[in-house]
Amino acid sequence: MTDCIFCKILQGEIPSKKVYEDELVYAFYDIAPAAPVHVLIIPKEHLCCLNEAEPAHKALLGHILLTAKKLAKDLGVAESGYRIVNNCGENAGQTVFHLHFHLLAGDTFSKLV
Ligand code: AMP
Ligand code: ZN
Repeated sequence: MTDCIFCKILQGEIPSKKVYEDELVYAFYDIAPAAPVHVLIIPKEHLCCLNEAEPAHKALLGHILLTAKKLAKDLGVAESGYRIVNNCGENAGQTVFHLHFHLLAGDTFSKLV
């Protein structure tokens, strides 16, 4: 998608600090970290948000979660704990409309649920 900043990151048009990449996903550090460890995991395929995910994306969504688990281990926070966040839509506070999952760690977090 031409005016999507995460698609531009994927195409190298906007710089990012890469954490991990494979054929399906790309992970990079959030530009405005909300925790000592704050990584964004995005699919290479542009989906606006979880609302656009279909049964055909089942493997991709599973892969994103398993990537989050792997990165938590690689970044040394698997044992201390981490939080995965997906904001879907305006009321949830989504600001970038390319599906992404936040991996947050290195701190304790207040519980919303
Ligand atoms: P959300 O509010 O859930 O849509 O999350 C969007 C996230 O993208 C925010 O945490 C932003 O700080 C982050 N973000 C926006 N632009 C960039 C960028 N160019 N590089 C890295 N992270 C970004
Ligand atoms: Zn995009």
